[in-house]
Parts: sequence; structure tokens; C-alpha cells
Amino acid sequence: MRVCVSLIERTAHVRLPTGPQFNEYRFSVERARMVRDQLVARGINNDRVLVAMGRTPRHLFVPPETRAHAYDDGPLPIGAGQTISQPFIVALMTQLILPMPNDRVLEVGCGSGYQAAVLAEIVREVIGLERIGDLALQAEALLHKLGHANVDIHIRDGTEGYAPAAPYDAIIVSAAAPEAPEPLMGQLAEGGRLVVPVGDETGQVIERITRRHGRFERERMIEVRFVPLIGRYGFKKSWGWE
Ligand code: SAH
Repeated sequence: MRVCVSLIERTAHVRLPTGPQFNEYRFSVERARMVRDQLVARGINNDRVLVAMGRTPRHLFVPPETRAHAYDDGPLPIGAGQTISQPFIVALMTQLILPMPNDRVLEVGCGSGYQAAVLAEIVREVIGLERIGDLALQAEALLHKLGHANVDIHIRDGTEGYAPAAPYDAIIVSAAAPEAPEPLMGQLAEGGRLVVPVGDETGQVIERITRRHGRFERERMIEVRFVPLIGRYGFKKSWGWE
């Protein structure tokens, strides 16, 4: 993190150069500022998460026309009516699963692949599930291009989890569920953590469910607004606004 902090301190009062030849430089400074102003300032304190967020090129996961806003403090459209979550929410969900280098993690609703890329920086293996084929294929191609050989993406209804690779040390659900899908709880390893936004179209609360001695401990964290998880153990149809 030291490199990152000194970079933003040195550039705090500098107007960033414009022009396409400076794009990568500008994005790296904006990313460092995002880590400081949106994550550290709001209590994200897991070093692994901060380093991964500081390394992952979010601007490559959004459509070219929104690239200039890639490091803004909010969600962005990624096509097919779906969104990439606000950076703070990605960091928070990653921190809530207490990721460890040897973990195998399932992400349900991997969309653009951004959350999966952040996870891939930290853990041993990431399995991503996505119901929209175009998004899944695009995410897979980008993750491959970025060299994340430890991510595997499957096009399927993620509410049923993915039994062939279970159990998982952690599961992140990146869409709003009416309740924590039962198959996902069943695919958690002993000591495993499931993080999922639970609620309805008016809003949700992020829940963390930890499997301990065959029991499930529940904690309710913060209020959020996600697009719906659509599937057998999710909602039956989209909400119309997303
Ligand atoms: N984590 C993503 C955010 C994607 S938004 C990112 O970093 O870009 C939520 C995603 O969940 C959408 O892409 C949506 O298509 C997907 N989704 C919704 N229901 C699903 C289901 N049952 N199985 C798999 N993916 C689902």
C-alpha cells in the first residue's frame, strides 16, 4: 500500500494530463484515489482487499462509453440491464468473506467479472456463475486476457450453486435474493462464509452466514440495492427498473 499512498500524495494537487496516451496513467491515479477516498476512508481495512482493489483495472470491466467514470463512487451499467457494483460494495463483500490465499470461492452473478477479478488476486480459485451468456463470455475473455488462470466461469442458474466444485470456503452472491438460497448454504465448507443481499425490490440488507459445526450463524450488515437474483431459488422475474 505504501507505493499507492505515495503516488496519490504526490499527485493530490496535480491536474491529471488528458489525451489517450495518458489514459493508463490517469486510471492508475484515479484507482489509488478510489482506494483512499472510498475504501480506506470508510473502514475497509483488510490489506489483501485494498491491494486487490488497487490492482484490478475496473475501467476494463465497464463499457467504453462509461470508462471515464470507472473509478467514480457508484454502480455503472454493464449491458443487458445489469450493473457493476459500487467499488465500496465490492470491497466490503470481499472483506466480509474473510478471504484467505488458499480459499476456493464461488461468486453467483459474476456479470462483468470485476468482483471475480478482485477475488482472483487474493484466493486460490474462483468459480463464477452467470445466467446471461453474453456477459459470461465477455467476462471470461477479459479475465483470460488479464492472466487470471484461476477463474472458471459457468453459464447457469447460480441459485442452485455448482455442486461439482463444492464445498466452498466462501460464497458471494452479487444479486438480491428473497432469502439465502438453500443449495448455496449446503455447498459451504465447515467454517465457510456466505455473503448475500437479502430483501426485495425496495432494498436489501447484506447478510453474512457462517457455517459452524453444521449450524448457520447469521449477521446482518448494511442496507444495499442490487439487481435481482433470478432463478429457481431466487426471484421469478426481473423488477423492470434494472
Ligand atoms: N459481480 C458483478 C455484478 C453483476 S450484477 C460484477 O462485478 O460486474 C448481478 C449479476 O447477477 C447480473 O449479471 C445478473 O445477470 C446475474 N444473475 C442474476 N440472477 C442470476 C442467477 N440466478 N444465476 C447467475 N447469475 C445471475
